[in-house]
Amino acid sequence: MAKKRVCVIGAGPCGMTALWNFAKLESDNQVDVVCYEKQKTWGGLWTYSWRTGTDGYGEPCHSGMYRHLWSNGPKECLEFPDYTFEKHFGKAIPSFPPRPVLRDYLEGRWTNNVNLKPYIRFSTVVRHVEYNERDKKFTVDITNLETDTSLKESFDYVIVATGIFNVPNIPDFPGLDTFEGRILHSHDFRDAKEFKDQRLLVVGSSYSAEDLALQCMKYGAKSAICTWRTKPMGFKWPKGIEERPLVQKFDGNIAHFKDGSSAEIDAVLLCTGYKYSFPFMEDNLRLRSTLTMFPDNTYKGLLYFMGEDSRLFYMGLQDQYYSYTMFDVEALWICKYILGKLPNEPRPLSEMKENSKEWYEKRSKLKTAHDDIDFQTAYIADLCKDTGYNPDVTKAGEMFHTWENDKDKNIATYRDQCFTSIFTGTRSPAHTAPWWQAKDDSIKAFVNKK
Ligand code: FAD
Ligand code: NAP
Repeated sequence: MAKKRVCVIGAGPCGMTALWNFAKLESDNQVDVVCYEKQKTWGGLWTYSWRTGTDGYGEPCHSGMYRHLWSNGPKECLEFPDYTFEKHFGKAIPSFPPRPVLRDYLEGRWTNNVNLKPYIRFSTVVRHVEYNERDKKFTVDITNLETDTSLKESFDYVIVATGIFNVPNIPDFPGLDTFEGRILHSHDFRDAKEFKDQRLLVVGSSYSAEDLALQCMKYGAKSAICTWRTKPMGFKWPKGIEERPLVQKFDGNIAHFKDGSSAEIDAVLLCTGYKYSFPFMEDNLRLRSTLTMFPDNTYKGLLYFMGEDSRLFYMGLQDQYYSYTMFDVEALWICKYILGKLPNEPRPLSEMKENSKEWYEKRSKLKTAHDDIDFQTAYIADLCKDTGYNPDVTKAGEMFHTWENDKDKNIATYRDQCFTSIFTGTRSPAHTAPWWQAKDDSIKAFVNKK
């Protein structure tokens, strides 16, 4: 029988783990897998670049990660069962690593006893995907950005793994046109040192707002006002950071807030999140959503409802508490589904829809971050049950609750806490300096390699 062809779009943590799982399942005699990645290398958001706006090919810059970004969750909550941090670094390391350490860890797993590079076409962007009901095949239009040549390829399955945090959501506020300082979205933020001695207005009340305000203060900003739309973050902030209701307008460099107060500021950081964006998917295949714990129109949050015989998958669509391990079990589910190795799948469409309805109902009852954590833990447990993936990964649920409580106790020190690896039982050592003082983000400094 002819081999089925599978197209993976994107070589970030999701796309890479799809390739890794296909390789581990030794599926080469059953499927022909091709991954298209628009950047020159793998890693997705974890590949740092100084660039903003457009990249060297004139394509939109993908990653909005910045120079001094550290993990905002404990590494013990994203550790692969088969490839621990201790195995990768040869020793136990602290719980909240900087970006280069996490990228190195990911790359270690992608190269440990596997060779995934032959599956990937780098510098190749997917421009369009459509489905032909007649022959049940996808046509994928790609462009090689090095040679500026395009072609069409035919596939039986498509896995979209292009991420959900790369197209910035940029609101406008009256008077911003006349504001004289720098205005930027967090996607374009690269180095906190740029804001030394400045008075900042940070719009938003989620992870980027929290981290950019803290980070800029750590590197010498004078003050930061975080302005919220729905509800304040409510942390006990270090001196210099405060929260106010939403900014309403600007008069020159004076910001006016909903509570009638005003303040003079030097720079505006719009930490206003991202848009789900899959412009390359044909209208009937395009998933549409805002940030969610379970995307509409999907089975298991993965298989897109495109009819009775769907062959289209999206990965990593959920707001992320769990990340690498969630992507890994999602990938295993998709790979096994395609290879016909899930005993209860495929099911009739009506059954799939019924199953998703239960998740939507549970989703509608979520109120707090702790509810979200339990929801995501249950989602992952469900995928573990289907696939046989190590269910111990869900022990991270308890750690996430502790982490949320640590943040509430002290937002400036939560990254100094130590957690215990689910898989090695080793408690992480403390870093040599508290996060607030630690300014060397290198692997050498963090791993404390001689
Ligand atoms: P991405 O990492 O975005 O990768 C998608 C890939 O698809 C990219 O390589 C891109 O070039 C490629 N691509 C896109 N469009 C096309 C196309 N048309 N054709 C071909 N290729 C394409 N998670 C954590 O666990 N810990 C953290 O500390 C953390 N910090 C974060 C900080 C920031 C600022 C942001 C925005 C996110 C952070 N995350 C963090 C969450 C992050 O979403 C995940 O860790 C992870 O990167 C998601 O992987 P992904 O593969 O889904 O998407
Ligand atoms: P997000 O979680 O989607 O939050 C977006 C914020 O913008 C919300 O507070 C939202 O307010 C606000 N907002 C949107 N439109 C607005 C408008 N018109 N006016 C005012 N406020 C508006 O996005 P994010 O904070 O960028 O986080 C994205 C991802 O990046 C997360 O996974 C996070 O973990 C990751 N991240 C990690 C780190 C790290 O330290 N490792 C740092 C930054 C980000 P409402 O609540 O009112 O909707």
